[in-house]
Amino acid sequence: MDVNEFRKRGKEVIDAIADYYEAVNDIPPMSTVSPGYLYKLLPHEAPESPESFDAIQRDLQTKIMPGMTHWQSGNFFSWFPSNSSFPAILGDMYSSMFDVVGFNWLCSPAATELETVVMDWLGKLIGLDKRFLSFKEDGTEGNGGGVIQGSASEAHIVAMIAAREMALERLKAQDGATSEDVDKQRHKLVAYFSDQTHSSGQKAANVIGCKTTSVPTGEDFRLTKEALERAIAQDKEQGLIPFFVCGTFGTTNTTAIDDLPGIADVAQHESLWHHIDAAYAGSALTCPEFRPLAAGSERADSFNFNPHKWMLTNFDCSALWVADSTHLVNALSIHREYYPKVEGDTAFIKDYRNWQLPLGRRFRSLKLWFVMRMYGAEGIRKHIRDDVAQAKWLADQLVADGRFELIVPVVFGLAVLRIKPEALNDPAMVDKANTELIKAINDDGRVFLVGTKLNGNDVLRVAVGSTFGTQKNIDLLLKILKEQATKVIAGLE
Ligand SMILES: *Cc1c(COP(=O)(O)O)cnc(C)c1O
Repeated sequence: MDVNEFRKRGKEVIDAIADYYEAVNDIPPMSTVSPGYLYKLLPHEAPESPESFDAIQRDLQTKIMPGMTHWQSGNFFSWFPSNSSFPAILGDMYSSMFDVVGFNWLCSPAATELETVVMDWLGKLIGLDKRFLSFKEDGTEGNGGGVIQGSASEAHIVAMIAAREMALERLKAQDGATSEDVDKQRHKLVAYFSDQTHSSGQKAANVIGCKTTSVPTGEDFRLTKEALERAIAQDKEQGLIPFFVCGTFGTTNTTAIDDLPGIADVAQHESLWHHIDAAYAGSALTCPEFRPLAAGSERADSFNFNPHKWMLTNFDCSALWVADSTHLVNALSIHREYYPKVEGDTAFIKDYRNWQLPLGRRFRSLKLWFVMRMYGAEGIRKHIRDDVAQAKWLADQLVADGRFELIVPVVFGLAVLRIKPEALNDPAMVDKANTELIKAINDDGRVFLVGTKLNGNDVLRVAVGSTFGTQKNIDLLLKILKEQATKVIAGLE
């Protein structure tokens, strides 16, 4: 493909993308293919001779499209949203254009400096404490800073590595500690989660090889100070060494918010690294009315949220801040002569390769910069507030219907609900009714949602938050929920 053909085909692709988005709310959101469908359709070796763009384009429409689940559809209510937006797509196209591997400042000064700038913008946009920013108010370098990771899971691992570094340094500093002592003790490190913490916490612990304690939550699915203290006291009696705790701002199951001030107290008292996972709900903090809910986060050691979930930025873009980058950078810096050192103000020449697992990194700050500039804080807040209002409206309608109950109040864009036992002749059939309801809705195919289990019970999760969804999509979902509930309840009688 030469540049002239690229110019022509590029315009066709943009047209195809625009057509797709114009129609995305009208196509069934869920793919109905069976496993292996594509393997049967494609050759089992790469072609020896070049093929035409037209041939690939045709296959994209006929073979790939049927196997796509349309996350950008306004009728997609599963998991959490994965917002795309036109400004982000365009920004990402420029990232593909430059295709730099921005592991340090020299690799591409703008890629490093823009990330530092937009991560400070973003931190301020969500009201993050100043400790987390790269620059202090007087423009001098702070101890903290933000970095874009590929995902919240990666952020979790990175935070835990920094935590381990901090813990090991403390062990080494103990009077008379030999390196054998430290080696023996490092196997006793234990990280704390709640039973509602995202699976990425356990994965991070598996990766770094530490022990974990899952602290039970109560009725409201929150990790409390008291439960955490109890778990720590038990572990310490066993000779274990607590070093890390994750507080969640908006859990995956129910968007519960852990007792962040309480966790901060415990973290301070026990010298734990306190990581906050706000992967989904962090986007809501762009709106000042949500910030009181995140009280306590100003005392954390690291804070993470995903603009790629609910803040209009295409995957992948996960924002991680640390209040003090020393431990992180100490743990992940490895010098080689092929990474020449750049002389100058360290505030501007951050070696982001030392803030993440891989060496190479994409120019992801571009898309975030496009999003923040083209929506403005106003536009981002409107997106969040509209979604929250729609989720609350839907929940109100369902409660008013009389057959549904909310499992937890709607705080953000997630409604967790079920057909209630009282709506059934036999209340013991409630789990069956709700699994059947989810199946019936997805078999219908006009909307797509998934369920979860809470305290052993089957419930529905409705995540509102598509960039392209409107009230029309919520109306359709409400209609389908009611219709299918009628059928399911009748079928059980
Ligand atoms: C979605 C989610 C994650 C994982 O996000 P990735 O970026 O896909 O790794 C982590 N924590 C919470 C609370 C989430 O909701």
